[in-house]
Amino acid sequence: MNVFFIVFITGSSYYHTPLNGLKDSIIYLIHLLLLQLTVAGILYFFSLNKVIFKIVFPVFYMIYGIIAFWVYTLDISVSSSLIDATLQSKLYIIKDLITFQFFIFLFFQLISLYIIFRYYRTIETTKGYRFLSILSISLVSVFFIVENKRYNTFKSKLPYKLYYSIKEYNSKPILELLDVSKRHFRSEVDSLKVVLVIGESVRADHLGINGYHRNTTPQLAKKKDSILSVKSIYTNKTYTAVSLSQILTNMSIYEDKNVDEVSSIYSVLKNADVYTSWVGNQLLEFDYKPIIESNEKVTIIDELKSVYSFHKLKDNELLPFLKRDLQLKSEKSLISLHMIGSHWWYEDKYTDEFRKFTPVVDSKYIPSMTNDQMINSYDNTILYLDSFLSEVIGILQEETSPIMMLYISDHGESLGENGKWLHAHNDESLTNPAMIVWVSEKFKEKYPHKTEYLDSLYLENNTTDLIYPLILDLFEIKEY
Ligand SMILES: [Zn+2]
Repeated sequence: MNVFFIVFITGSSYYHTPLNGLKDSIIYLIHLLLLQLTVAGILYFFSLNKVIFKIVFPVFYMIYGIIAFWVYTLDISVSSSLIDATLQSKLYIIKDLITFQFFIFLFFQLISLYIIFRYYRTIETTKGYRFLSILSISLVSVFFIVENKRYNTFKSKLPYKLYYSIKEYNSKPILELLDVSKRHFRSEVDSLKVVLVIGESVRADHLGINGYHRNTTPQLAKKKDSILSVKSIYTNKTYTAVSLSQILTNMSIYEDKNVDEVSSIYSVLKNADVYTSWVGNQLLEFDYKPIIESNEKVTIIDELKSVYSFHKLKDNELLPFLKRDLQLKSEKSLISLHMIGSHWWYEDKYTDEFRKFTPVVDSKYIPSMTNDQMINSYDNTILYLDSFLSEVIGILQEETSPIMMLYISDHGESLGENGKWLHAHNDESLTNPAMIVWVSEKFKEKYPHKTEYLDSLYLENNTTDLIYPLILDLFEIKEY
């Protein structure tokens, strides 16, 4: 039964993990077996009651099989967004997932179910009850011990992931946003478009234009006279969920999440008749979802794949939506583009033409990678970013109204400093995100004071607290 469970369900969460060499494979095999052991404990309790086992178990088993098939074939992510899409009967997404292979898979899964039941009839469930119960409780407790030691080790994988996604879907938002709908804001500019590009895990010191020894920003370097790179900006928020919650609201980096009166920048702008649109290449995380949903329009591309997928859409797929929003007749708008950027696993974040620094990572198991491999792959994602931002600027240059781009990464990334990699821990390498500003000629002409102020940011030591008031000031938001 456990073997079938691995084949038809648990294994799907490991299938796409890029691994290289025997050692990495063995480590992930142990990971899988350990996870299945905890599941085995649960399955044992299921099997004790004949009625439950014959009715409840097959339902769960088959539902899980259906989801696992999509994880196997398309690397979709089980998340609250998937629950959302299913319940909101966005069936067009689900419909595309049903293929001939899907029925073959289900057919074999049904055969496995038949075999399980045939075998089940021959065993005495009460036999060895005391010993097996204690053993099963111990196995289940392994789940909690491991999760306690390293959060999300098992939770992020099937079968557990479905339970936690449903739980998240049903829970109340953590963030209670201030309702500004009864207040009156006004924007005193007559024409302005701001494109806010939110980057992912990009540290300022790996940009060529900031003096990094590698030329990771050849395209932006060509535009050196028209862009401004703010080198000195500090944040203590080291992962997306907390960082976005802070950047996009009036929260300070020094305040806790429980502050009263957290207002979303989008609520204020919307109230002042500024059009707001969010286009994201990341699923909305629970912590900041209400902020994003305060946009007038929200578009999530690639809505079935989370940061855990190894086959994410590339960020350039955001560009058609930028063009769509620029075509709208609104004089004032804030268009936000949320990138997947330089998020680990780096290799699916850029296209082959940007694989300039080699050798790159070839396994998800970081301890078996060299520092060079990690940094090369990371720097290739910066080359991709360089090209992406240049394309954004190229699109904005076509605009006739005053327009600007404000790029800010959510946090940095550790690249071996103090033995640390990636993010979501405490290390100095995470605290200086990249920030780049570009304004159009028309913008400079019409708003010389704003241009001057933006230029002055270069000289100061800033924190990400800067962004919220900066955007409101650009639109000259007044309350009356
Ligand atoms: Zn992030």
